[in-house]
Amino acid sequence: MICEIVTDPILLSRISRPAQAQDFNIARDLRDTLMAHADHCVGMAANMIGRPVRVIAILLEGEPVVMINPQLLKTSGKKYTTEEGCLSLKGVRQAQRFEKIQLQYQDEQGRQKQRTFSGFPAQIIQHELDHCEGILI
Ligand SMILES: [Zn+2]
Repeated sequence: MICEIVTDPILLSRISRPAQAQDFNIARDLRDTLMAHADHCVGMAANMIGRPVRVIAILLEGEPVVMINPQLLKTSGKKYTTEEGCLSLKGVRQAQRFEKIQLQYQDEQGRQKQRTFSGFPAQIIQHELDHCEGILI
């Protein structure tokens, strides 16, 4: 289901709770909503569709990848300053990101995954992880 985008900074500033088995349907709605905005959006967190739960979805080579309870294990490479936009906010703002990250998460089937990302995908994930902590750019 394509959901409405939350733009209220107070709601977006709340820390999301861990996802549980009954929350896995959020993943589907988040994926549907991301794909509806795929021409101008590369990632979303579930609190952006009104579900303050630790689920994020990003586009990797045009395909949606959902990550449930994503957890940053390690950052490496240099830290750099970049400009980012956000579907929930107007304009672009500066953000600091790490070049490389190691991430643990569950996929939509509940399988535990561990993956390393670098460059743009790493940047998108760091933006969405911030959303889970109630941090806006
Ligand atoms: Zn955002």
